[in-house]
Amino acid sequence: MAISKKISGFMEKSSWIRKMFEEGIRLKQEYGEENVFDLSLGNPVVEPPEALKQALIAAAKDTTPGLHRYMPNAGLPDVRETLARSLTPECRVELSADDVVLVCGAAGGLNITLKTLLDPGDEVIVFSPYFVEYLFYADNHGGKAVPVATKEDFTLDLNALAKAFTGRTRAVIINSPNNPTGVVYSRQSLAALAACLKERSQKTGRAVYLISDDPYKKIAFDGVETPNISEFYDNSIYITSHSKDLAVPGERIGMVVVHPRAENARELMAGLIFCNRVLGFVNAPALIQRAVKNAQGATVDVKEYQRKRDFLYRELTRIGYSVVKPQGAFYFFPKSPLADEVEFVRLLASRRVLVVPGRGFGLAGYFRLSYCLPDAVLEGSISGFEEAFHEAAGLTGHGT
Ligand code: PLP
Repeated sequence: MAISKKISGFMEKSSWIRKMFEEGIRLKQEYGEENVFDLSLGNPVVEPPEALKQALIAAAKDTTPGLHRYMPNAGLPDVRETLARSLTPECRVELSADDVVLVCGAAGGLNITLKTLLDPGDEVIVFSPYFVEYLFYADNHGGKAVPVATKEDFTLDLNALAKAFTGRTRAVIINSPNNPTGVVYSRQSLAALAACLKERSQKTGRAVYLISDDPYKKIAFDGVETPNISEFYDNSIYITSHSKDLAVPGERIGMVVVHPRAENARELMAGLIFCNRVLGFVNAPALIQRAVKNAQGATVDVKEYQRKRDFLYRELTRIGYSVVKPQGAFYFFPKSPLADEVEFVRLLASRRVLVVPGRGFGLAGYFRLSYCLPDAVLEGSISGFEEAFHEAAGLTGHGT
């Protein structure tokens, strides 16, 4: 075997999205592109806001010498400064450039953070259903992801969290608005989480860091608040990116913000900057750093996502699906009408509708669908959702 057993095993474990992607290619060849409704990927189809496009053009046209050279590994100082200023109101704590590291997307941010924090065997708690890459990122740095169940409505279960702590617990990752459920954590739930982590840190004399991985922060609906964890917990690290709010996931730009009052904040920052150098990507790309500096305040049209959510929520509940109404991001995580959701996902695929089984996110019995897609794809999927639901009801003997 050319590749390690470990990577081969990981590839198998994470293969659900890839399997659906391959199934999509096959179905598109057989039935034609417009007759396949692929809701499996979270790749936004919306275009970046005009302000960012203009800022990118201006950055590319700038002929000042030296703009394309190596830079400090934390990122361009003026861009860090601008981001610190624009993030201060949201974080409700005074930030300076020294608190911000520019990274290659939230993924890069998570990796430098885990590399900085983890010793071999350290544990990172994640809440299921989770963004599956957390498992691999923890492993990348010798750590182990420990999944903890959420409640029926996918909100945080602090009793389950308390039971999962061990002497090796180093960090907890949260994600709100959430992929795959669309749930947003309220102020009360973040405050309660912070209290639980403070108690644990005090008891053991070792800080449990809270990593808030929030690339969907600005994609929230109905005016719901998406409070920042830095307001509630000092030992927190906020990671976000412009992959979703400026719709530039291909440009790889994100940031890590260390709470200025975190224990050993300067040492932590130095570790992050070092790790931003040694993981192979060596700082975030210069051009997009300069562009986002001049596009702070711009966002994709969130109302468009809300409109798409409203449409799908209305249709899915009309058909009879049981689903928590998402308050943000661009995913639904409905309950599968069949106990074995893989079987149900196959039923949907037979109607040329592609979604991802919940076990791909650590929670069987559900499935995830993305709606960052053209209306025609969403509208075209409805009859497939309807037929598969009724066929499943026939199979289980529960008439609808
Ligand atoms: N975290 C979550 C929860 C995500 O859904 C994603 C991407 O889909 C990422 C992190 C990675 O984002 P980025 O493209 O900014 O690296």
